Amino acid sequence: MAVRACGLIIYRRLQSAPCSKVTDGIEYLLLQTSYGTHHWTPPKGHVDPGEDDLQTAFRETQEEAGLHASQLTLIEGYKKELHYPAHGKPKTVVYWLAEVKDCNAEIKLSEEHQAFQWLKLEDACKLAEYEDMQVTLKEAHEFLCSKK
Ligand code: AMP
Repeated sequence: MAVRACGLIIYRRLQSAPCSKVTDGIEYLLLQTSYGTHHWTPPKGHVDPGEDDLQTAFRETQEEAGLHASQLTLIEGYKKELHYPAHGKPKTVVYWLAEVKDCNAEIKLSEEHQAFQWLKLEDACKLAEYEDMQVTLKEAHEFLCSKK
């Protein structure tokens, strides 16, 4: 059976962005792992016993980025599942999309990560390196573009 993990693609809207374009000023949060090849990823982690997937996504976001559920708005209608091999086992990762309410909210990393960045879509895709993650970010962005 695949290892299951859940997380949130977190974005913020910079207040200085012009109102005319809804997706201007959108930046995505990526964390750099302190393990392995130090790849960049949204906050995510393994589902604990008794937890549902969305609870895991919020808990991991709090643990890995220091953002509590009350600081976030979950965006209805977006959910994406990735499948890739990790450490010789199949892994499934489910992501939702959430906006941080205060674009200056403090990010507090755990020991699992060594850096974070807020990035425009293009730069987020460059750092995200894995094609499935790049597609996920692009789809999330298109979803936000299509909302208004
Ligand atoms: P992670 O799932 O981010 O904890 O990473 C576990 C392993 O899977 C590491 O070796 C990563 O380099 C690799 N990995 C992470 N994300 C992806 C992805 N989206 N596609 C393929 N491999 C990945």
